[in-house]
Amino acid sequence: MPRKLFVTTALPYANGTLHIGHMMEYIQADIWVRFQRMQGHEVHFVCADDAHGAPIMIAADKAGKTPQQFVADIAAGRKPYLDGFHISFDNWHSTDAPENHLLAQDIYRDLKKAGLIDSRSIEQFFDPQKNMFLPDRFIKGQCPKCGAKDQYGDNCEVCGAVYNPTELISPYSALSGVTPVLRSSEHYFFRLSDPRCVEFLEAWTRQAGHLQVEVYNKIKEWLEPDETGKRQLGDWDISRDAPYFGIEIPDAPGKYFYVWLDAPIGYLASLLNHFTRRSAGDATEGARRFAAFMEDPDSEQFHFIGKDIITFHTLFWPAMLHFSGRKTPNAVFVHGFLTVNSEKMSKSRGTGLDPLKYLSLGMNAEWLRYYIAAKLNPRNEDIEFNPEDFMARVNSDLVGKYINIASRAAGFISKRFGGKLGAVADDGAALLQLLRAGATDIASHYESRDFARALREAMLLADRVNEYVDQNKPWELAKQQGMDERLHQVCSTCIESFRLLSIYLKPVLPVLAARVEEFLQSGPLVFDDAARTLGAGHAIGEYRHLMQRVELKQLETLFEAPPAPVEQVAPPGGEDIAGTIAIDDFAKIDLRIAKIVDCQAVEGSTKLLRLTLDVGEAATRTVFSGIASAYKPEDLIGQLTVVVANLAPRKMKFGLSEGMVLAASHADEKANPGIFVLHPSAGAKPGMRVR
Ligand SMILES: [Zn+2]
Repeated sequence: MPRKLFVTTALPYANGTLHIGHMMEYIQADIWVRFQRMQGHEVHFVCADDAHGAPIMIAADKAGKTPQQFVADIAAGRKPYLDGFHISFDNWHSTDAPENHLLAQDIYRDLKKAGLIDSRSIEQFFDPQKNMFLPDRFIKGQCPKCGAKDQYGDNCEVCGAVYNPTELISPYSALSGVTPVLRSSEHYFFRLSDPRCVEFLEAWTRQAGHLQVEVYNKIKEWLEPDETGKRQLGDWDISRDAPYFGIEIPDAPGKYFYVWLDAPIGYLASLLNHFTRRSAGDATEGARRFAAFMEDPDSEQFHFIGKDIITFHTLFWPAMLHFSGRKTPNAVFVHGFLTVNSEKMSKSRGTGLDPLKYLSLGMNAEWLRYYIAAKLNPRNEDIEFNPEDFMARVNSDLVGKYINIASRAAGFISKRFGGKLGAVADDGAALLQLLRAGATDIASHYESRDFARALREAMLLADRVNEYVDQNKPWELAKQQGMDERLHQVCSTCIESFRLLSIYLKPVLPVLAARVEEFLQSGPLVFDDAARTLGAGHAIGEYRHLMQRVELKQLETLFEAPPAPVEQVAPPGGEDIAGTIAIDDFAKIDLRIAKIVDCQAVEGSTKLLRLTLDVGEAATRTVFSGIASAYKPEDLIGQLTVVVANLAPRKMKFGLSEGMVLAASHADEKANPGIFVLHPSAGAKPGMRVR
C-alpha cells in the first residue's frame, strides 16, 4: 500500500535571502522525499515564507515598503536557490496568505472552545516615541548578570544569561534610542500549563518515533517539575498589540497572533493551497481534498527542522493541533547546524558558503547534495563543510568510483557491440547479486535518514565493481584476439552494476540520475528495479560525460572574501538630515538669547536640571533640561545660552517648563555619549532673537 506523506521544512523568515543552513535542511528533506517517491508513495512536500512579526514590519518600514510588498520581494528571490539545488517542493506559499489567516483563526477558536485560552494584563516595555510595544529583540541594555552593554532583551550574548527585558539595566529602545516605559496591556495566552496539556505532551513526546532520543531528552526538561513543583513549560503568550504585521485575533480588536502561533499553521495553509492548485484553482475542491487528507488516519505528517526551534515544534505545535481537534505530526526530525570552515551558520549570521555564488562559479549542485548527504546521519548533530574533504569525496568517490564505471565500459559497448548489452557470466552474476542484496539495507538507511550510511554502503559496492574492472581490464581484453565475448560480458556487467548504483544514488543525485536513465534507456529508476536487469540485447544510448571533477580553483574562489563593500558614509551625528522646510517654518520658532541666572539639581531625577532663565522679560522663566549627566549646576550659572521662547509650556512631574534650552548630542547617545549646551559669542544680550 502506498503511504500518504505530508512533509515540510521549516519556513524561512522573510527578512532575508536563503543561506547555506537553509539549503542543508532543504537538501536533507528533499533526499528523503525523493526516496519516498521512488518507493511509489504519495508525497506532498511543501514550504512557505514566514512573513509576519515585528522584525519584518520594522525592516519594511526602513525599506520604505509595505510589509506585504517587502515579503513579496523576498519571496520572488527564492526560486534560484530552490531550482538551483533541485529542491522538489510541490508548493511554496506564504503565512500571510488568506488560507493561513482562516486556519489560524479556526485553530484559535477551537483552542478557546477547549477552554485553553486565557487573557490577562501584563506589563511590557513601550517605546513612547515610536508609539509601540517593543519586541524583546528591540530592547537593549546592560545584562543584569554580567553587566555587558548593548545586550538584547531576551538573552546576553556575552554570558549566555536568559532573562526578561524588564530585568535589563538602563534599557533603551533599539528603534529610537529612548528609554522605554512600562505599560500594561491585555494579552492572550495558550494555557500550556493546564494539566491536560502537560499530560498530553508527556505522552506525545515520549511515544516512540515522534522524536529523536536526544531531542526527547532535551525537551522533557520542560515537562518535569522541579523541587518546588514548577515546570519550565508555562502558559504561552500568543498575542501582540497593534501596530503588528500579522493575523488579527478574532473578537479582540487591536490584537494580533504572535508570529510563532501562525508560522507552523503555515504548513497546513501551504498544503491546502497545494490541493487547491492541484484542483485547477477550485478552492472548494481544494478544501475538500485537504480535509480528506488531514482526516485520513493513514496520512502521515513529518517536519524537518533545525535544533534552534525545537520547543515550538515539539511542544507548542503538537498541543495546538491536538487540542484544536487535529492530527498531530508523526515525527519531527531535528538536524544540527552546518559549520563552514568551522564557522557556525545559524539563522542570524554567516555567509561562509554563499549558495548562489557556488552556482555562479559553475559548481555542480549535486556535488553539494552528495557531500551534505555523505555527512548527514539521523541524529541532531552539527556537521562541518571542509573544502579538502569536499574535493576528496566528490573527485575520489563520486567521480572516481561511481561515474568511472560507466565511462570505462560504455565506449566498448557502443563501438564493438552495436550499443547492445550482452550476457553476464557467472562471476558477473555473483557481483550483481552482491549489489542487488544491498538494496534493502540502503533503502532502510534512507528511510531512517541515515544518508551517510546509505552512501557509505553504495560506495563499498562501487569498490567491489572497481575491483572487478581491475581484475578483468576491459581495455586489455579489447586488444586481445578472440576475447570479444569476454569483453562483452565484462562491459555488460559494468553497465548493469552502474545501473544498480544509480538507483541507490538517485535520491541524492536526481539530475544525474535522469541523464543516466537516458543513457541506459531504462525508464525512470525506482528501488524495485534493483531486482531486475536490463538484460542481454538491451540497447543503451550514447554515453556522454556525466560529471566533471571539482577544481581547487573553484573552491578557492568560492571562499574568497567578497570585495570590501563601498564604505557606507554614516549620516552626520548618527541621523539623516530632516526633510526640507521653508523659511516661514523656521520663522515660527522664536529663539532667544537667555542668561542662566540659576541652576539647581532636581530632587528625584537623575536626568534633569532646573534652570532659571533671564530672557530679557519682566520675569524669569523656569526650564527643565535633560542635561544633568553632562553638567554640574554650578558650572552653568552665569552662562548665556539659546532658548526656544515660544514653545508651549509643558507640565512636568517637577513643575512647569517654559521653553527649551538648545543642546547638541549624537543620535546614538549610548555609543557617542555627551550633551553640549549651545552658547552665543561674547556680547550677545538676553532677549536678542536668533535668526
Ligand atoms: Zn551577560
